[in-house]
Amino acid sequence: MAVYSSGVIFEGVDTSNPDCWTLASYQARGGYSALKRLIENQVPQDEVIAEVKNSSLRGRGGAGFPTGLKWSFMPRSFPGDKYIVCNSDEGEPGTFKDRDIMWFNPHALIEGMIIAAYTMGVKRGYNYIHGEIFEVYQRFEAALDEARQAGLLGERILGSEFSFDLFAHHGYGAYICGEETALLESLEGKKGQPRFKPPFPASFGLYGKPTTINNTESFASVPFILRDGATKFLEAGKPNNGGTKLFSISGHVNRPGNYEIPLGTPFATLLEMAGGMRNGAKLKAVIPGGSSAPVLPGDVMMDLTMDYDAISKAGSMLGSGAVIVMDENVCMVKALERLAYFYHEESCGQCTPCREGTGWLYRVVHRIENGQGRADDLDLLSSVGNNMAGRTICALADAAVFPVRSFTKHFKHEFEHHIEHKRCMVEHRWF
Ligand code: SF4
Repeated sequence: MAVYSSGVIFEGVDTSNPDCWTLASYQARGGYSALKRLIENQVPQDEVIAEVKNSSLRGRGGAGFPTGLKWSFMPRSFPGDKYIVCNSDEGEPGTFKDRDIMWFNPHALIEGMIIAAYTMGVKRGYNYIHGEIFEVYQRFEAALDEARQAGLLGERILGSEFSFDLFAHHGYGAYICGEETALLESLEGKKGQPRFKPPFPASFGLYGKPTTINNTESFASVPFILRDGATKFLEAGKPNNGGTKLFSISGHVNRPGNYEIPLGTPFATLLEMAGGMRNGAKLKAVIPGGSSAPVLPGDVMMDLTMDYDAISKAGSMLGSGAVIVMDENVCMVKALERLAYFYHEESCGQCTPCREGTGWLYRVVHRIENGQGRADDLDLLSSVGNNMAGRTICALADAAVFPVRSFTKHFKHEFEHHIEHKRCMVEHRWF
């Protein structure tokens, strides 16, 4: 997948160069200089946390939680083992950014994790990589070997008192393993099912020890902040939305791919960068942050900027930045049916409202799509959704409900047409 960058993580990375991922290439771009400065000057941990807080870096995996604040939760004086874990298990429909970070620039992630370990006094970390991307896993392993051989990982890093080692872990391909506590269970070798919270991973994480979990893009943003300064990172975005962000654009655009752009960039600009709408078709709808984020009508999106606050004010979520663009030829009933099927398949089955509810949602949307919808089906979808959201162990049930609510809200007429006329109202539908 092509990467187009004006930003932090991919700055200077020539993705057409097959060696762009190597240690030599990363160091030629200034890589590991931030880590060296911290170690050589023995920069206090509080100072590093303050710098990350000042950058306004927010978690890039979906929740948007301030990274520096999360790091400050790690108990410093804890006497036993503690861990950092990278969540590279992106598996939501529309997401494909973390794999490109690990493929084209894995040392940015490794350096970010070493800095995080230095800051939180951690000696061991894991990168949990989605189970279906074998080549990326192998490349990340190769990058880890390079870092070890260069004395950047292992005992007494760069001759200092600081030791830290990092391991890649191949996931099992289940979407739910991207939920942080299910990921920890999976990492421990158990069935990947979410845990009840509290306790939260900060106090009871991997093997019951304090653990900080961040997304791939969050860790990979850290070297820039510590090298070029929090202010420069912050100013690359907008207040409360610091830095650049990778947006994975898929759907009916001319140039799908990953675009690293400043947070706060207008959606219209991003769409233009992606080559505009395919075949000159009209924009109908956009899911701005991965399939769990509520869909928004195209005309609403055209007035928005791509940042956490603007998208959430409009009633959706920036999430992981997976932007799914749909043109006028998409049947919104069919599109929702696809999503409902996904969540039904991926429910881990622990909670009754999720296990049964996702099946109900799928079956009702399926029958509407297939000309067998009933007059009260929209009310039924709403009722099932209300009995799921907020009543389960993890957020997968909510993630299944959000698309149902937003599709039936913004495109209600399409659902009503399907129910009343037993057929689709979209003239030249894609599928
Ligand atoms: Fe499993 Fe769904 Fe419950 Fe999450 S909400 S724990 S996916 S059954």
